Amino acid sequence: ILPYTPLPEIDQKVQASRDFFFDKQLKLSHESDPRKKDLQSRQFQLKKLYYAVKDHEDELIDAMYQDFHRTKLESVFSETTKLMNDILHLIEILPKMMKPRKISDYSPPFMFGKTVVEKISRGSVLIIAPYNFPVLLALAPLAAALAAGNSIVLKPSELTPHTAIVMEKLLAAAGFTSGLIQVVQGAKDETSKLLDCGKFDLIFYTGSPHVGSIVAEKAAKSLTPCVLELGGKSPTFITENFNSNNIKTALKRIFFGAFGNSGQICVSPDYLLVHKSMYPKVIEECKLVLDEFFPTFDKETDLTRMIHKRAYKNTMEKLNTTKGSKISPSKTLTSLDADDLCIVPPTVIYNIDWNDPLMKQENFAPVLPIIEYDSLDETIDEIIKEHDTPLVQYIFSDSQSEINHILTRLRSGGCVIGDTVVHVAITDAPFGGIGNSGYGNYGGLHGFNTFSHERTIFKQPYWNDFTLFMRYPPTNAQKEKL
Ligand code: NAD
Repeated sequence: ILPYTPLPEIDQKVQASRDFFFDKQLKLSHESDPRKKDLQSRQFQLKKLYYAVKDHEDELIDAMYQDFHRTKLESVFSETTKLMNDILHLIEILPKMMKPRKISDYSPPFMFGKTVVEKISRGSVLIIAPYNFPVLLALAPLAAALAAGNSIVLKPSELTPHTAIVMEKLLAAAGFTSGLIQVVQGAKDETSKLLDCGKFDLIFYTGSPHVGSIVAEKAAKSLTPCVLELGGKSPTFITENFNSNNIKTALKRIFFGAFGNSGQICVSPDYLLVHKSMYPKVIEECKLVLDEFFPTFDKETDLTRMIHKRAYKNTMEKLNTTKGSKISPSKTLTSLDADDLCIVPPTVIYNIDWNDPLMKQENFAPVLPIIEYDSLDETIDEIIKEHDTPLVQYIFSDSQSEINHILTRLRSGGCVIGDTVVHVAITDAPFGGIGNSGYGNYGGLHGFNTFSHERTIFKQPYWNDFTLFMRYPPTNAQKEKL
């Protein structure tokens, strides 16, 4: 149902985006106060985006429901509300972010001059979005790119076609200056065409590590900088120093992250590592919490579905080949319904080791493997060996020295202690990966910085030339003595 952008049209859109940027800068350059004019214009564009999202909120929610049966509550909480708050925050911080920063250096060459650092737009930027939060992960970077004064080409995920269509419609309805935002619809061929043109000033990609490396390789050919927001296997620890009275609370918080959006969250707790002293109680409580979370199983309202049959089958294959024991809610679907609707029931898998099929790749499904451990250091060694530099790590421990120990040994994009997933929504906290989970970040002011270039401007007066005589030729014995 999604009309892909014809390949020849893609070149035109890319060129239109570049032309727009240069025309805008030309017009600004004739203003008496270009920065003030630019600030007003950026705030105006952000307000248009805000109202367009607000006006189309119901349509977006319906579209996500059509695409993968996304529950309304999840769409409102995790996409539209967060997005609108992000846009309002950018409007608020923009005057401060756009103000050049003064630098003081009192060493001789600079002491009489003036140094400022200004943040300039990068130019025309490409944003490639994934399917799992199809609105937020397309339009939150787009808002940051707008705030930083760029022109934008957006490539939404083809796997959520209804949502992609509504996003294109709302961006057209927003009334942006013509050319500011171009939308390219499509899949691999259309994205490759965009990447091969080599005409962007920044590529902001969110998706799988495999495609991320294709994007980075293509970008390198034209020296285009990239931000890669990738996925991976994020571990969760319940350590021996955790207060066992809080196990139920911990499991509720872990399941919230592991089973929300049917596990299709880049920061989902991908697997759980439990110290042997806590393990029996954890396993016992899993069943109770699953039944509490899913007392009935209404296939129409309860669960967001797997995005497609392939993802569903892939997960079911792992569940069928694991040697582990499984726990699911008592009220579950008939396998016929599950097959038909691409619903994987939330499942905890225990009695397994690091060789299990569920411990190889990112699961990206509502399954939570649990591994029992004895030595924390050996477990961390295993993570470093198998799945180093995860996007996030979650720690349930009441010992600060133990938390410090884990944090010192294991690098990760982010970390949450005592909860899961929620850190993505902290205003102005940088969100991004390290190593395998990507590079670069965004979130509030960090998004603005990512889509800007920091330019140092040093202005030297002329009267002080006598203080600079040392650097000029000719060199002579007298200078060398000094
Ligand atoms: P994906 O990599 O399959 O697709 C992402 C985008 O890349 C889509 O727009 C798609 O059209 C395009 N694409 C796919 N194959 C391509 C190719 N060969 N060449 C060029 N472009 C191509 O990812 P997905 O399945 O949509 O999303 C799931 C993945 O994204 C998971 O790994 C998840 O962890 C990760 N993710 C990361 C974050 C984050 O912020 N770090 C957020 C959400 C999802």
